[in-house]
Amino acid sequence: MTAAIPPGSPRPTIGGPATERAVCVLAPNPSAMTLDGTNTWLLSEPGSEIAVVVDPGPLDEGHLRDVIATAQASGKRIGLTLLTHGHPDHAEGAARFAELTGTRVRALDPALRLGDEGLTAGEGITVGGLELRVVATPGHTADSLCFEIPADAAVLTGDTVLGRGTTVVAHPDGRLGDYLDSLRVLQALAVEGGVETILPGHGPVLTDARGAVEFYLAHRANRLAQVETAVEEGHTTPQAVVSHVYADVDRTLWPAAELSVRAQLDYLREHGLI
Ligand SMILES: [Zn+2]
Repeated sequence: MTAAIPPGSPRPTIGGPATERAVCVLAPNPSAMTLDGTNTWLLSEPGSEIAVVVDPGPLDEGHLRDVIATAQASGKRIGLTLLTHGHPDHAEGAARFAELTGTRVRALDPALRLGDEGLTAGEGITVGGLELRVVATPGHTADSLCFEIPADAAVLTGDTVLGRGTTVVAHPDGRLGDYLDSLRVLQALAVEGGVETILPGHGPVLTDARGAVEFYLAHRANRLAQVETAVEEGHTTPQAVVSHVYADVDRTLWPAAELSVRAQLDYLREHGLI
């Protein structure tokens, strides 16, 4: 939501190999909200013939076929499809992708699944020797998940942490208290769990996971204080708070900012701060 850049050294280009086990295939859906487009992640253990796809992206036949071709070019077939959350820029193409690849789709939200397997927090997933761990990170949406790749000291963050700017707490489904808790979970993964690299759902890879998450925590605290002050100064409607607090943000993003403001107002009310 801002032009601010999290710390670390973002890779200058998006798409292609990011870690030993993760390759990004960029979807052709750039916008103010999706940045350069959705990052579809192709994951596999070195030497394995099976790959896992996280977030097939929008329903764009060319992109879905690109993802399959990228796997095939390195001698791999796709064995499983996972979703970080249900927003259409991540999940809309999942059913078609599953059809093209003959894979199941696993997600937290039962409505997004194809096949009978869901995902639960803390669960380990092993496919072709690749080990992933499911991390529940509600807040951007109620169904948001991250996937840790312990062998790469990396975590796929969907829309919970982006490669540029900050994300939206998509009120009313997304809740700020949950989001702050989720950022602290990611902070612990970086500080105590050894995770160094963030593979986001949009924007470039971040190489300082701890710095990026702490930047997000500081940004949220800052915005929350600004919203609290704006309300105290008499800007009581969500729209008035947006035009006061998000004056530095491109106006095309104000409708999204309003969702975050509504989430922040709920949080402040629940904590008796306004
Ligand atoms: Zn999203």
